[in-house]
Amino acid sequence: MTLPEEGRPGALLLAMNVGSSSLKFAVARADDPSVQLFAGAADRLGADGAKLLCGPPDAEPSRKQIPGADHAVALKEVAAAIAESFPGATVTGIGHRIVHGGAEFLQPTLIDDSVLTALDGLITLAPLHQPPGLKGIRTLATLYNGVRQVACFDTAFHATKPWVHEAIALPERFYDMGLRRYGFHGLSCQSICRMLAAEGFPYADCKLVIAHMGNGCSATAVRDGKSIACSMGFSTLDGLAMGTRAGRVDAGAILHLLHQGFDVHEVEDLLYRRAGMLGLSGFSNDMRDLLASDDPKAARAIDFFVERAVEEISRMAGALRGLDTVVFCGGIGENAHPIRERICDGLAFLGPETLVRQTDEESEILLETARLVS
Ligand code: ADP
Repeated sequence: MTLPEEGRPGALLLAMNVGSSSLKFAVARADDPSVQLFAGAADRLGADGAKLLCGPPDAEPSRKQIPGADHAVALKEVAAAIAESFPGATVTGIGHRIVHGGAEFLQPTLIDDSVLTALDGLITLAPLHQPPGLKGIRTLATLYNGVRQVACFDTAFHATKPWVHEAIALPERFYDMGLRRYGFHGLSCQSICRMLAAEGFPYADCKLVIAHMGNGCSATAVRDGKSIACSMGFSTLDGLAMGTRAGRVDAGAILHLLHQGFDVHEVEDLLYRRAGMLGLSGFSNDMRDLLASDDPKAARAIDFFVERAVEEISRMAGALRGLDTVVFCGGIGENAHPIRERICDGLAFLGPETLVRQTDEESEILLETARLVS
């Protein structure tokens, strides 16, 4: 795609959302970050089936096989696709979704070496997400030499939580060491709140829960547009059951495994990569596979997923002292009707209305990036 001469932007912003085996991106004019001109996604990175889809929104995307491509190769392909689609334009700012900002980063932040070093220090708190996010920053620093980059944190939206929803019941020095419930999926929550506000939704008076259910799953309690509690806490492990993550686990079970001789890396691998729907079903982390299967283990995994979702959303209703509206988003929340219906049945006792929205983290990143680099 090449834009006609008169419509061509000179300066572009790029939003990058890099996951463990996938990435999503979006491009907008630097002087109008609210309109995406070009967007895309690459998935199955590192595998033979790796591919890149991209193009203008609302058009059929072009598709390119990039077998075996890792993150660096895929990012190079993205840069090439942007250069080809916007000849003569310059990328002047790049924003990244960074999952963990810890206690230090409560706002989108311009990246320099000291920021990168501090974010490296949070890798053990988000081992699935932080490394690819930081790899994205470092790779794009070489592809777009000298261009300012901004880190937009999933934890930042939750900085408004009251202490009781931030604290863990440990002596204070552990809080000071950073052992707190941070909360995640903040860019998604921010995007949903912005969408509802644009629709004129009266969310100022509304007790709202945002149920983001994708590969990672969380429920966030929102009052007056601000996060007051989140099912994910110190790390992205807590709360609902997920594709490969266990969700809530009694800390005593972890201690038991360590006493049994499992080392910390084995337990980390178990909880982040082999648990959740994959662990329970024994064959897939993907909700589509589970719904299509007649294996009784798949049915049990789904039962478990639904039950945990109902419990965690209800827990958020407790934090809100009531519940008016639940917004479902993420791949499962948006598309898996049978799952959503069962969760809604489970929540019927609370009498909330339910909405479905397509979350748009990349637009949030574009807006924040424009603010910081302009
Ligand atoms: P991520 O968290 O990596 O961004 P997504 O938000 O894309 O992931 O969610 C991925 C999940 O959504 C997978 O479990 C996938 O099976 C599920 N999903 C996507 N489309 C459907 C569908 N049509 N029916 C059921 N589940 C779906």
